[in-house]
Amino acid sequence: MNRNSTLKNVTVLGAGASGLVAAGELRRRGHRVRVLEARPTPGGRVRTRRFGGDGGPLVEMGAMRIPAAHRRTLRLIERLNLRHRLRRFRTLFSDEASYLATPQGHLRVSEASTELVRQLRLPQPHRYREETVLCAAWLVASIRAVAPGPYLQSLGPGLATRLAELLDDVDVRPFLSGDRLDVNRFLAANRDLAEGGPLRYFFDDVATELSEALFRLAGGMDQLIQKLAERLPGCIETNTWVLGLHVQPGCVLVEAQHGGKTTVMPCEQVLCTLPFSVLRRLRLSGIDGDKLALIHGMRYWPGTKIAVHCREAFWVRDGIGGGGSFVGGLVRQAYYPPVEHDPRNGAAFLASYTIGPDAELIDGLPRRERVTAVLDGLAAIHPALAEPGMVLGVASQAWGEDPTALGAASLRWSKDPATAARERDLAARPSGRLFFAGEHCSAHPAWLEGAVESAEAAAEQIHTYHPLEQLTRA
Ligand SMILES: Cc1cc2nc3c(=O)[nH]c(=O)nc-3n(C[C@H](O)[C@H](O)[C@H](O)COP(=O)(O)OP(=O)(O)OC[C@H]3O[C@@H](n4cnc5c(N)ncnc54)[C@H](O)[C@@H]3O)c2cc1C
Repeated sequence: MNRNSTLKNVTVLGAGASGLVAAGELRRRGHRVRVLEARPTPGGRVRTRRFGGDGGPLVEMGAMRIPAAHRRTLRLIERLNLRHRLRRFRTLFSDEASYLATPQGHLRVSEASTELVRQLRLPQPHRYREETVLCAAWLVASIRAVAPGPYLQSLGPGLATRLAELLDDVDVRPFLSGDRLDVNRFLAANRDLAEGGPLRYFFDDVATELSEALFRLAGGMDQLIQKLAERLPGCIETNTWVLGLHVQPGCVLVEAQHGGKTTVMPCEQVLCTLPFSVLRRLRLSGIDGDKLALIHGMRYWPGTKIAVHCREAFWVRDGIGGGGSFVGGLVRQAYYPPVEHDPRNGAAFLASYTIGPDAELIDGLPRRERVTAVLDGLAAIHPALAEPGMVLGVASQAWGEDPTALGAASLRWSKDPATAARERDLAARPSGRLFFAGEHCSAHPAWLEGAVESAEAAAEQIHTYHPLEQLTRA
């Protein structure tokens, strides 16, 4: 028998996507797993909010879209027999009737070009072609819509010129229709444009978030979680809070609380998928200094979503067929999910999605004022929200305040590739019999893809772990 395949007892901490994927993989390979989860239900940062029970409209309060390039996530969806549920996710600017905030007020995407060009800060006179200027104007607008304010400012005042220079060698005409650039299609075809330059990180993100090739799961992203959990019958212990981790020579001591009772369990192998934002608040010992420094130093961004349940899909009346608006201000982004349920149950939309410094602004308001601030911010483009009986309910999720996350995701912006790779290796490096996974331990931080990637890698590490070999290597 191959000694690497010795049967192991693995305790997985956290029943988010990463913990569930790893636990399923380990179980498939014959190992015994138990999963400790603080919340009453698994899912972590995949959280689907249903209004009015089954058959009612839903809004994704966590992960909502899957880029076509995220092969691991899509493979997982295939393996879980959910492929037939994949639908195109319509993003910002994909609907001509959606809105875009400009210093001149909100404009429909279909009529924003002239204003965007007018606002573009290019030195005058300039030598750029008309189509180059138009394309640069839309890219600046796209970066504004995706990057939180302070990060946009960090790009400096010469952004328009830098973009115009980059675009000068590109034939942008296939992506123009009249005075409108098809941003989604342009970015899909030209995402490598800023390769090697300071704009790369922003361009990469804008290209992903505004891509045409994004998917969602009809019926809710939490189906992914339900299917993963079904593969682990009797293995998931919910309402169990991990309070401390102590790496010892032959085991890891896990302090956990369930039903008011704290126990200390000696565990043979432990896989920790808790975000470092949470982990650093626990009692930790036996973890080496470099790793501890990263656990304490890794930056997390808050992220806040506010969903509104309405009497009807008023945005359809307004000509909006889906996608999202860049509303700006405290609201930042709003998304209009398709109505795929019985319309008698009303309709729901994501009224506000903020991340990073923008989420800090909204989180800084007293809770009860946040919804009012968002509804006020939307009033200019969606007066229907003020109609009597239009708003049936609201839900909000401030990930920076959620004790099981303490952030929406580890910070992915503006890290150079070498630093990101170094941090990733250190984050994923085991400490004795304590292994690590989660989006923060991956090459795709802040995405489900990262949760899956790191879970598969950790399951393999645990499967092939042999204590004697580790001793010899040391
Ligand atoms: C607002 C938002 C939007 C997003 N949008 C997208 C998107 O569109 N597409 C995409 O691919 N990704 C998106 N993501 C990212 C994606 O949701 C995450 O990368 C992924 O879900 C992380 O999975 P994970 O298993 O690493 O962590 P988590 O899902 O956070 O899992 C950790 C688990 O540990 C549990 N836990 C925490 N503390 C304790 C404790 N002390 N004891 C026991 N258990 C504990 C938590 O409850 C949780 O279940 C988004 C995330 C957010 C927040």
